[in-house]
Amino acid sequence: MNFSHSYVIEHHPFMSPSQTVRPLHSLTLGDLEESLSVMGQPSYRAKQVMEWAYGREKRVYSWEAMSNLPAGLRSSLEEIHPIRLPEVVTVSGSKDTTRKLLLRLRDGELIETVLIPASPALYGEESDRRTLCVSAQVGCAYGCRFCASGLDGWKRHLTADEIVAQVLLAEKISGERINNLVFMGMGEPMANYSNWLQAVSILNAPWGVGLGARKMTVSTSGLVPRIRDLADQHLQIRLAISLHGASDEVRSRIMPVNKKHPVAELMEACAYYCDRKKQMITFEYILIEGINDSPSEARLLADRSRGLHAKINLIPYNTVEGLPWKRPSEEAQETFLSILRDRGIAATIRREKGHDIDAACGQLRRRVAASSPSGTLPPENDVAPSSLLG
Ligand code: SAH
Ligand code: SF4
Repeated sequence: MNFSHSYVIEHHPFMSPSQTVRPLHSLTLGDLEESLSVMGQPSYRAKQVMEWAYGREKRVYSWEAMSNLPAGLRSSLEEIHPIRLPEVVTVSGSKDTTRKLLLRLRDGELIETVLIPASPALYGEESDRRTLCVSAQVGCAYGCRFCASGLDGWKRHLTADEIVAQVLLAEKISGERINNLVFMGMGEPMANYSNWLQAVSILNAPWGVGLGARKMTVSTSGLVPRIRDLADQHLQIRLAISLHGASDEVRSRIMPVNKKHPVAELMEACAYYCDRKKQMITFEYILIEGINDSPSEARLLADRSRGLHAKINLIPYNTVEGLPWKRPSEEAQETFLSILRDRGIAATIRREKGHDIDAACGQLRRRVAASSPSGTLPPENDVAPSSLLG
């Protein structure tokens, strides 16, 4: 389902009855040029608009502020390509730690986006300075047993502009540029493939946010056909697989998607991706006590990784309210890690900075939704976003 509106606008001086309403931040430069040409406008106007929308110097958030456009045109464009940034409900955390933005979308749904300050490289080659963890859907349909995002099921896809807006708002609030993006927030980006890909092309474009594809990592629970589709795209985006189990027995128990696309099929798609992109991929592996942390699973994981030259990120499980799982002891985590390293695998344990503010996907949203049906009450130690904007 796509949520961009498709009703027709009538009786406006510059607009044609065939034009449909699409938010500005969901458009590529080509889309906007096309729209402007239908309105009888020269194509250079599109570049002017994108400069206002994404330029580093003069980024603005309203049509009114685009002062070199004729007023009549601005009001037509406002009708047909509205600017709809989500409302920032709360900002948790502080400047030097992980900050989590809770955003309210136009239909009242809540999503999260998490800003992570400088830390050693997780995905890119350099140190990951100012990484943003972006959501792709409201809720998630994939129902992984350990995950907060899937607990309340799937609500809807995010539109391309709702994905792009997460970056714009994070940059606006922090006053800094984001230089790494990870699509590891709420939802399954590969299940919202076309909106997600449209957002990625806007984020990547020189006329857009201008973030290199190598600075973006998409994480998937293993949607095999989409992994292959992405492999066939020219974008050099990085791929992370939420593996969490090396055998079908373990993986199917915690990730229902494995019944549809078992491990062997997933490994073939990963090999195809590596081959097409000439890139290394990453396996994400949450360590959950008594579920997937046995030495035999570690040995099988090493075998799977060796074949693909995949790196492994071990993630100690973040406890989720209402779920029985917990992380293994540090000793057990180290044992698991050493089994991988002894086999020559590049593996690290990610000690998340965001643990203390519910940074695992979907957790803050659930807590707010549970504590206040209206969604207005910020959880403790949150600060009003306005105090950070100045
Ligand atoms: N749906 C995609 C993108 C979300 S990424 C995917 O699953 O890959 C979110 C990452 O956080 C995934 O690797 C997910 O498995 C992991 N995760 C979910 N719940 C977690 C928890 N409680 N503790 C630690 N990691 C968790
Ligand atoms: Fe969805 Fe990913 Fe959470 Fe699984 S881990 S429920 S795919 S967000």
